[in-house]
Amino acid sequence: MRRIVILLTAALLEFVLVASPASAQVVPVDPGSTAAGRPIWGTGQNLPPLTANTPYFVGPGFATEVEAYYDSGKALRQQAEIATAAFDWVKRWIANECGGNPRSCKATVVFDVDETLLSNYEFYKGTDFTFDQEGWNAFNESCRSTPIVPVRRLYTRLRTAGIRVVIMTGRAETTRPWTQACLEQHGITGWDRLILRAPDETGLSADAYKSGERAALQRDGYRIVASIGDQVSDMSSGSLRGGFLLPNAMYLIP
Ligand SMILES: [Mg+2]
Repeated sequence: MRRIVILLTAALLEFVLVASPASAQVVPVDPGSTAAGRPIWGTGQNLPPLTANTPYFVGPGFATEVEAYYDSGKALRQQAEIATAAFDWVKRWIANECGGNPRSCKATVVFDVDETLLSNYEFYKGTDFTFDQEGWNAFNESCRSTPIVPVRRLYTRLRTAGIRVVIMTGRAETTRPWTQACLEQHGITGWDRLILRAPDETGLSADAYKSGERAALQRDGYRIVASIGDQVSDMSSGSLRGGFLLPNAMYLIP
């Protein structure tokens, strides 16, 4: 417990001390061996330690710092920086590996949902940055999340460029009706696949579930160029070329 508090303090001080950059600060981040040798880029603003193997929520002790991070627009700027870096990287990869034609090599980008395409900041703010299952269900069933605009734009740009887009979420398969409706309501449409956690995947870690589903996609002929998410577990344990890690100052799910 003591160790986690110290690490969180160091992380959140960084929110306060690091000036908002005018230029892109997307840098390689190192989540340890789970990256399976694949490069991951981010802004370094996620809650450390990225190698943590148990989930946690930041809680009320740092609410002021977390709210400042989101309400000041800094989170949005960093989300935009990562979305731009991801687009440029995918474009370069397709130019080099697919002769510029993404359809010819079935180039695919995988997107996570929560804190990637959709923001649940208002929900977590209302729970003092803890988790409440009943409140969470109500929040999502009534689609009170908001789109993360730079990531939605990235999604649309990639899709328009002929790249396959797959949405993969740790939400349960039973939430498909309102998850799908909420994505569509926010203008996120036209995916190749929308993958939710099947009943037999309930007991798996996010890392095991997502890497397993990416491996299955690759067996189906999808060539996964990049995964875009707010958790290392969106891009760990292989079956992709590279990962782009969006900031999440609220919780960690390994
Ligand atoms: Mg997420």
